Amino acid sequence: DGHELAVVVPAPAGEDRLREIAGELIERLHEPFTVDDLRLGLSSRIGLVAVRDDGADARTLLRRAEGAVTHAIGNDLEIGEYEVARDVHSPVRMALVGELRRALEERELTVLYQPKLSLATDRIVGGESLVRWMHPTRGMVPPDEFIPVAEHSNVLRPMTLFVLDMALARCEAWRQTGTGQSVAVNLSVRNLLDHRIIDDVARLVGRSGVPPEALTLEITESAAMLDPGRAREVMVELRALGVHLAIDDFGAGYASLAYLKQLPANELKVDKTFVQHIESDPRDRAIVRSSIDLAHDLGFKVVAEGVETAAAMALLRELGADLVQGWHIGRPMTAEAFDVALAGSLAAPARLR
Ligand code: C2E
Ligand code: MG
Ligand code: MG
Repeated sequence: DGHELAVVVPAPAGEDRLREIAGELIERLHEPFTVDDLRLGLSSRIGLVAVRDDGADARTLLRRAEGAVTHAIGNDLEIGEYEVARDVHSPVRMALVGELRRALEERELTVLYQPKLSLATDRIVGGESLVRWMHPTRGMVPPDEFIPVAEHSNVLRPMTLFVLDMALARCEAWRQTGTGQSVAVNLSVRNLLDHRIIDDVARLVGRSGVPPEALTLEITESAAMLDPGRAREVMVELRALGVHLAIDDFGAGYASLAYLKQLPANELKVDKTFVQHIESDPRDRAIVRSSIDLAHDLGFKVVAEGVETAAAMALLRELGADLVQGWHIGRPMTAEAFDVALAGSLAAPARLR
């Protein structure tokens, strides 16, 4: 159910004009049309690549356009643009992969933890692990800048295992001191497509001493949709290990409710773009409210991410969210700072602060 076609636009007046043309194309493609009395609609994505004088031949250009489409799908964009840094075949990209591999070896990668607060108890129950690259000259590099690079190389697996290992060790420490219960780790699309992930998770959890249900693996809705059949298969196998699963960035992708209902997930994380404006935008509030009700009816717990204000938190409590995560509760922090936050939450639950 996917058809691809290429459009060549000769000598447009600059790349901005190219973007405009792509936008117009998308609009036209989205216009509903009638076939045999049926009203039909199309969804489409465009991968944009400009012809530069770098000697790229037609085959290379098509490959770049395909990469741009894949980028659009993975990031839920209507239009994806070719970027040399994402191109697996480009020298710049290969250098970045090399640097990332070195970073992993030299322990430049580190894991921050962001608290997840239970609205039932007003206590921090655990945290989400968020990887960072402490680059010697570029400073703190956010994951969005290097995970796409890692995804298309063999660095992704050791990087994921590194984060898992750190996260499980932290969680074991929290459980020993009775301060925190669970930890979450993000998986990317490519992790899901690599069958070794099942054994990897089983081995690391087993070695850590953490009960499997204390680990939540977060998978974005759009990652699950890239290969729905395969994603579901892997999720079923992961669930069979006893670990918990969360659908991340819910609402930002295109999962159908029919598909969603079959996923063996425990938790649904409402995308922060809806939560952030929940006080000011009645439409966002409506989306969050229905997501919460839907998730509960399907048997999932609901985490609202991107909770930036006390007012947003109060509203989410009213709407029945189970857990909240966001700057209002705490920014992603080092393991040491997180321990302090955990101890503080135990002494004075959020409601009393
Ligand atoms: P995510 O899993 O949805 O993580 C939440 C992101 O929202 C984090 O960005 C976090 O810092 C940010 N955030 C948290 N609270 C707030 C808030 O109140 N307001 C706003 N505006 N933002 C907030 P971060 O750390 O830059 O991570 C971005 C994404 O990178 C993550 O999104 C996740 O998909 C991915 N990622 C992070 N660590 C890993 C990892 O170890 N492995 C993989 N595969 N992906 C990772
Ligand atoms: Mg996440
Ligand atoms: Mg998210």
